[in-house]
Amino acid sequence: MERIFNFIDGQYMYLPECKYLDNYAPATGEIYALTPDSTEEDLELAIQAAENAFPIWSKMTSIERSNILLKISALIEQNLEEFAKAESKDTGKPISLARKMDIPRSVENFKFFATAILHTHTPAHATEFGVINYTLRKPLGIVACISPWNLPLYLFTWKIAPALASGNCVIGKPSEVTPFTAYMLGKICQEAGLPKGVLNILHGQGGKIGAKLVAHPKIKAVSFTGGTQTGAEVARLAAPQFKKISLELGGKNPTIIFADANYEKALENAVKSSFTNQGQICLCGSRIFIEKKIYEKFKTDFIEKIKLLKIGLPNDENTEFGAVVSLPHLQKVMTYIELAKAEGGTILIGGERIKMENEAKNGYYLAPTLIENLPFDCRTNQEEIFGAVVTIMPFETKEEVLMYANSVKYGLSASVWTSNLETSNFLAQHLDVGIVWINTWLLRDLRTSFGGMKHSGVGREGGQDSLLFFTEPKNICIKMD
Ligand code: NAD
Repeated sequence: MERIFNFIDGQYMYLPECKYLDNYAPATGEIYALTPDSTEEDLELAIQAAENAFPIWSKMTSIERSNILLKISALIEQNLEEFAKAESKDTGKPISLARKMDIPRSVENFKFFATAILHTHTPAHATEFGVINYTLRKPLGIVACISPWNLPLYLFTWKIAPALASGNCVIGKPSEVTPFTAYMLGKICQEAGLPKGVLNILHGQGGKIGAKLVAHPKIKAVSFTGGTQTGAEVARLAAPQFKKISLELGGKNPTIIFADANYEKALENAVKSSFTNQGQICLCGSRIFIEKKIYEKFKTDFIEKIKLLKIGLPNDENTEFGAVVSLPHLQKVMTYIELAKAEGGTILIGGERIKMENEAKNGYYLAPTLIENLPFDCRTNQEEIFGAVVTIMPFETKEEVLMYANSVKYGLSASVWTSNLETSNFLAQHLDVGIVWINTWLLRDLRTSFGGMKHSGVGREGGQDSLLFFTEPKNICIKMD
């Protein structure tokens, strides 16, 4: 049985009185590791370590910080295979996906912010003759970075890289459901020469140590990615102390396909945007709207494509669709399938747990599921399911589909497929979401603003947005005579 340790003050911390949580491999349902169930005592150790490290780290030059973060990036890349295997085992995602997406993106996150800090500038304003204002940006101090289970190392590093690059010390809290690659990161930081206490990684339950971390008076800002309900709790805890918060929350994203779209590309993409990572990406499209003229054909072709998805053990090189992250999550998704049936939905394909054999027989496998005949405003079409459960609906006009798309409380992303510039411009203007993809999906440029509107979040991450979030501006006004 593997044992995971907190990473505090530059070392893995073993406290004999520590209690542990079971860590499951979704592919087999077996417990394969034990995760520390951190307490306030662990948090205090981490805060103390970060407090000691802050004067050293924040006073380093950008180039010095950049060099260390580039080493971290290079070391993750050198150990890519090991990280990919660990991520696949911990989450149930296909090894090919971890290898192609999760770990390379973690490498990029460090590389991107390590180099971004070498190219920053701040404004200066010549107010009147002899008077100039300029803005200084300073790191905040100790910040909390809290991440979810769906893209564990990818989203953890997306937060800690800009926080560290900006000169802050960090207490990171990965999801207790998928702690393993964050645990591995400690060793990489040691090898890269990150000064002790600059990054501390605390494991444990969100409602327990996560909440204590958010509420700790020495934490100046909280960067959180997770569910909308948890985000509201984070905001409630942080607000009385006027902490900065960045919240990246849930979604219920539309995929909108017009008859004039490149049909094959739209079809191929619909499979990806619905079922990549077993539908467990906040940006997955879970409501597919098809222009009525092509609805029946698209539906038939889509079902055929879904049938071709290779479902199997995550560590099988050929697997395209692996296991759901946990038993509670599998049960939650299945409850939504039952709800969809009760609301009058027709299951076109999937809709049930897959019975696997041999070592996978106790794993958490759910068939990719497509449902039709549901109204746009039923619960199945309004609430986030966060699994491979997708609904399909026809529409006739762009105004009609816009109304369907915007009818949910979420506003994260949308993927629109059309060859008509006017249609794409209309939807780009009027969709209430933070990201609109036209004729593509999940294509990311790390310089762009990432985040959601409405209940999908507060604030933006990426490029300058992240660097501004993790620093405090100070205006200096000089009268020169
Ligand atoms: P979650 O909200 O249950 O947990 C997220 C993190 O918060 C975990 O580390 C958890 O331990 C911690 N946490 C839980 N309660 C807490 C509390 N009271 N105080 C502080 N921390 C607490 O989310 P999840 O189930 O891990 O992830 C799935 C959700 O994340 C989905 O809703 C998905 O849409 C969302 N998500 C959003 C984005 C985005 O960029 N918008 C990206 C990925 C996932």
